[in-house]
Amino acid sequence: MEATNKLLEYGNIIGGTELFEGDKIPIYNKYTNEQIGAVYKADQNVVKNAVTNAVDTFKKIKLSPADRSEILLKTAKLLEMNREVLVHTLVQEVGRTVTDCNTEVDRAINTFTISSEEAKRISGHGVPIEGQKGHENRLSFTVRTPVGVVGAITPFNMPLNLSAHKVGPAVAAGNTVILKPSEVAPITVLKLVKLMKEAGLPDGYLNVVNGFGNETGQYLIEDDRVNMFTFTGSARVGRHIKNSTGIKKVSLELGNNSPTIIHKDAAQIGDIAKLAAQRGFVTANGQACIAVQRLYVHRDIYDEFLSEFVQAAKDLKVGNPADPQTDIGVMISEKEAVRVEKWVEEAVANGAKLECGGKREGTAYYPTVLTNVNADMKVVCEEVFGPVVSVIPYESIDEALQKANDSDYGLQAGIFTTDFNFAMRAVRELDFGGVIINDVSTFRTDAMPYGGIKNSGLGKEGPKYTIEEMTNEKVVVMNL
Ligand code: NAD
Repeated sequence: MEATNKLLEYGNIIGGTELFEGDKIPIYNKYTNEQIGAVYKADQNVVKNAVTNAVDTFKKIKLSPADRSEILLKTAKLLEMNREVLVHTLVQEVGRTVTDCNTEVDRAINTFTISSEEAKRISGHGVPIEGQKGHENRLSFTVRTPVGVVGAITPFNMPLNLSAHKVGPAVAAGNTVILKPSEVAPITVLKLVKLMKEAGLPDGYLNVVNGFGNETGQYLIEDDRVNMFTFTGSARVGRHIKNSTGIKKVSLELGNNSPTIIHKDAAQIGDIAKLAAQRGFVTANGQACIAVQRLYVHRDIYDEFLSEFVQAAKDLKVGNPADPQTDIGVMISEKEAVRVEKWVEEAVANGAKLECGGKREGTAYYPTVLTNVNADMKVVCEEVFGPVVSVIPYESIDEALQKANDSDYGLQAGIFTTDFNFAMRAVRELDFGGVIINDVSTFRTDAMPYGGIKNSGLGKEGPKYTIEEMTNEKVVVMNL
């Protein structure tokens, strides 16, 4: 793979050919603000051609499950071989630290490895209709067939692994794909696409269109030939995609204002405080859909927890993401950092107490702990998507569950307790797609079913579950 220090241009990829035509979008290093490359913007014609290619390829080139599995495993190996370049590119274009970006590459390798395994296990199930009176002579089962052409749209924050979660299962299921990466961080994804070609993926299986959401993305979602859309991003855009795409499969992985409950019987408060600080401030600089945002802490341990948590936040070093000593890099843009700064200022003006942070330097926002917040403040009821955490006391289990559920979102929640009954009550009563016991809301391993309810989305990711979303289940009935 090419060196990453020179200014590189990336085209749209249609039928395996990279096309360098049209207007360019500059891509910047989010810490130095230097331009590191440019992508060619896909206009409506380019998007149309990409879809035509994906439709034709789906009809003409069929890969066996074993072939798909091999290509995906080879992709995982190539990701490992190109780790250094991928990490370097991620650090530059997303502004996250070297450690954080290495973790993302590890996870993408895992996602492709799991997709490779799952490619060999796609199956339907038996349907015992012979049990129905009058149908004794029938035998029934289901088979899963690929949906056809998948339109995949991905966000900026973890561009490699979140694209892997769409492309890996789509190929495993035998679909062709048109991928539109984020316009602010597309380069790592374009490198992945080239590695998949090197791994043996036939031309046309994975086409890429670059550009802004309201142009390139919009052209893609308006193309009726796409059989399914899979989107990761904000609830605002997710709702728009759902409303615009009519009667077809759509899966949406959207935001969250993730709660974690820390009960009075939780063991090792200091360790929990450090972990919560890591997952609220360090992972993706707080720009993760399941980043710790609301901490509900039992009144009996509130003071002890708060003091440990604030100290853990203050101990984190903010700075150049390329420096291995840095814990927290920068946010994706100054505009986003200013938005977070304004939300914090607004909360403080309305009575919140700033325990630490609240400081911005360009695109860097310092880890910020707020107390004395109320449920109507944006930092509590909306998705902050930055390194800001509110710590809120509670007296009773009922109150903790009610406050954690007081959200338009429902992706994942965490709970620390050694009380088995409370933990199981939380599992039943928390309105979230995932409940994580004795860990924060941020836990995710790539094989598990992952996806939200309410405004957090529709459908599940995790290769096994995405393959279910990306296949049609057909019933077969034999009259014997
Ligand atoms: P975003 O919604 O602004 O953009 C996501 C993608 O959608 C980009 O590629 C963008 O160009 C495209 N897009 C925008 N408008 C479009 C349109 N009209 N038609 C088609 N495509 C369009 O999100 P972002 O700022 O890149 O990412 C942050 C959001 O992503 C947060 O809300 C976060 O919670 C969410 N997210 C969710 C998960 C998850 O798995 N649930 C993971 C990571 C991020």
